[in-house]
Order: sequence, then C-alpha cells, then structure tokens
Amino acid sequence: MQHRKITFIGAGNMARAIIAGLVAGGYPAKSISVYAPSTKNRDALAADYGIVSSGDNIACAREAEVVVLAVKPQMMADVCQPLREQIDFSAKLVLSIAAGIQVSRFYQLLGDRLNIVRIMPNTPSLVGKGMSGLYAPPQVSQQDRDYTGDLMSSVGKICWVDDENGINGVIAAAGSAPAYFFLFMEAMQKEAERMGFDSQTARDLVQQAASGAAALVEANPDTPLSTLREQVTSKGGTTAEALRVFNEQRLPETVAKAMQAAVSRAQEME
Ligand code: NAD
Repeated sequence: MQHRKITFIGAGNMARAIIAGLVAGGYPAKSISVYAPSTKNRDALAADYGIVSSGDNIACAREAEVVVLAVKPQMMADVCQPLREQIDFSAKLVLSIAAGIQVSRFYQLLGDRLNIVRIMPNTPSLVGKGMSGLYAPPQVSQQDRDYTGDLMSSVGKICWVDDENGINGVIAAAGSAPAYFFLFMEAMQKEAERMGFDSQTARDLVQQAASGAAALVEANPDTPLSTLREQVTSKGGTTAEALRVFNEQRLPETVAKAMQAAVSRAQEME
C-alpha cells in the first residue's frame, strides 16, 4: 500500500485500532501523526506505536496528505471550523469515521471541493477483526479508493457501498452488531451461571462456542449459514429443542426489527 503522510484528528478507540493495524502492517510510524486536545490519549498512542503526537491540529492537517476525522459526530463541526479557516483541503484526502454525518455536510464544513471517503468501522478493528463499510462520492479517484481500502483492510475486512444510504445498512449489520452478539453472550453466560457454573467457566463456555461458531463460518465460506445450523441440529435432539423456543419467541423477526431500528436511528442522526 502507498505510505502517504496521514494524520488522525482524535485519539480515541477507533483511531487507536486503525493506527495499531497500520503500524503492524508495516506503515512507517513516522508518516503517522495524531492530534487530540488532551495529551493523555495521543501521547499513549505515540508511546505504543512510535507515531508523532501533536497538540497542533492545524500543523497536523497542513502537513498531512490524508486527514482522518476520528472524533465523535457531535464534535465534528467544532473540529472542522478551525481547519477550514486555515487549510486548503483540495489536494488532500479526508476520511471520516463518524456515524451520521453525510458527505454533503462535510462539503458545508470543509468546502465543496473536498475529496472525502466515509468509513464505518467497528470495534473488532481493535483486534484486527474489523468490518468496515466504505462510501466515496463519484469524483473520488480510484487511487484514493484503493488507498482507503488498503488502509481499512489493515484492521479487518472491507465492503464498498455504491449509495451513501448503504452506510446505514453497514451500521445495522456490522457497526452496531458486536453489541448484539455481546447481549446474546451475556444472556447465555447468566443462564450458565444459574445452571451452576462459576462466572469464569460460564464465560469460557460461551466465548469458545461463539468464537468456534464464527470460525466454522469463516472456514466454510460457501456453505449457507442455514446448512451449518442444520449440521448441529439432530432431529428430536437438544439443539432442535432450543431452536424451537427461539423460533416460537420470534428471534429472527426480533433481529430484523432491531436492525431496522439501528437504520432508523442512523437516519435520524443525519
Ligand atoms: P472516543 O470517544 O474513544 O474518541 C474521541 C477522541 O476525540 C478522543 O481521543 C478525544 O480526545 C478526541 N477529541 C475530543 N475533542 C476533540 C477536538 N476538539 N479535536 C480533536 N480531537 C478531539 O471515540 P471513538 O469510539 O474512537 O469514536 C470516534 C468516531 O468513530 C466517532 O465519530 C464514532 O461515530 C466513530 N465510530 C465509532 C465506532 C465504535 O464502535 N467505537 C464504530 C464506528 C464508528
């Protein structure tokens, strides 16, 4: 991948995940800088990955070829304002990982000649198992798309969406999804504890079942999920009985409703 000079505005969890992946993949640490108003997070990133920590957002953005906006959506306008006043963004690539802020809003915030790609990552990026959805408006060059795709591939898999609304689908199916699985696993752990297992053993049982199931899905990319499910469901057996209850309680419909709710919330945030 190309090693452009890149800066992260914001030094939180997602910035850390992406920086960790880049450095592990051989991106030169001296080409990466990070800005955040407080020294704590940015200095920790500098200490952990050898990147440059800076308290000067303008200098960071001015020197960089790629500016990653990695702050909370509600801070975005305040963060962009001083940058817009002092930086010419027309020759830069801007990457936003913020939920709910559309490309059209970035044109207002940073100028309408902006070269921008929206990225929707998720927290498993922290362990190299991320899933990121990417959207670029038509005017973004293939070279910039390839660069952004390579960047996010360093922390997991990627999926491009042709329509910006597709980002909301990515939020529902991947961005928010780790929490769905955590909820399911929490419920299973609690019930295993009620069955008499100590908390650690209950967690181990659930964790290994979940990561084992995910590994089976990965190892059999051409096998439909329904087939994998059927392979562990003997007729009249224990799994069949558990699945009967899930279906009676309308688990598939509940999952669909929950994903729709995530999409609706993302639309409201726009
Ligand atoms: P976070 O709260 O961990 O980090 C935010 C960072 O912004 C902090 O380091 C803070 O120091 C910095 N900051 C605060 N004010 C600033 C300012 N004025 N200028 C520059 N930096 C400032 O947040 P996060 O979880 O890393 O999320 C960052 C973005 O990633 C958000 O927009 C969020 O929507 C998006 N995102 C997060 C997830 C997730 O699961 N965490 C998933 C997808 C997208």
